[in-house]
Amino acid sequence: GLAAERIIYVNGDYVPESQARISVLDHAVLYGDGVFETAVAWNSVVFDLDAHLDRLFRSLAAINLRPPHSKAEFADIVVQTVRRNRMRNAYIKLIVTRGANGEPFLNPEGCVPGVICFAREYLYMASPERVRDGLRVKTAAVRRPPAQVLDPHIKSLNYMNLVLAKLEATAAGADEALLLDINGHVCEAPGYNVFAVHGTVVRTPWQDILEGITRAWVMDMAGGHGLDVRAETIELYDLYTADEVFFCSTAGGILPVIAVDGRRVGEGVPGPVFSYLHKAYHDLLASGESGTKIDM
Ligand code: PMP
Repeated sequence: GLAAERIIYVNGDYVPESQARISVLDHAVLYGDGVFETAVAWNSVVFDLDAHLDRLFRSLAAINLRPPHSKAEFADIVVQTVRRNRMRNAYIKLIVTRGANGEPFLNPEGCVPGVICFAREYLYMASPERVRDGLRVKTAAVRRPPAQVLDPHIKSLNYMNLVLAKLEATAAGADEALLLDINGHVCEAPGYNVFAVHGTVVRTPWQDILEGITRAWVMDMAGGHGLDVRAETIELYDLYTADEVFFCSTAGGILPVIAVDGRRVGEGVPGPVFSYLHKAYHDLLASGESGTKIDM
């Protein structure tokens, strides 16, 4: 028989993937002009959907795009999309585009915003071996843009900076890239926030980064566990000398980093702070108490 097609939400309709259409003149296609969120559902619960929608609205405000829906309506679109695909564990993307006005020019006047939501069976961004054994990362030559150029707080569709960093890392045989800011401080990775552990001190960069939902959870959880959590400026030296380094993101959970620029981190294996947080995160997701319930 025919495999059931996935259902995608596009501009008011839930349609089979092969019928999902947007204009080629949408400014998202022409200029990367739009914003998005990546969320996860585990055990039919969307993890911290409120935080994702708050961040989406901040991104929309920053790019001067009036939200085409209320937060409640966006939440319903996310829940419906997962429900209609009958997925218990899902990787979910919610996208708001500037839209099209019939002209291929930068002028956004008359553009009608577009909304897209799709879901996939949950997949890790990294392979299971990497999650288990840890990532080898490499500092990219390309830097994260400062707020004066394109504020990384905005979760914009323009990911070229991160794509270029990822290409560099891949070309060099590393698993992931690490980006520095314009002054050489550690920033983040393509799709992840970064943490460094020295003893009981857990540090994460604070400037020119996307403020990750997972990062916020890690900071809370590590603080609650008696660790000294600090959002502050971090240098490459701090990663090279750390007991542990880990990345975190919605689409990957918490991932150990075992090497940075060819230097072994700590013992070169996933460490105890990582292991504690990784288990706590998965226990929370599995418990079904992490957010918005999807009734099937
Ligand atoms: N930084 C960047 C640049 C990202 O794209 C992501 C993924 N959304 C993150 C950090 C992690 O954020 P979150 O925990 O909200 O997924």
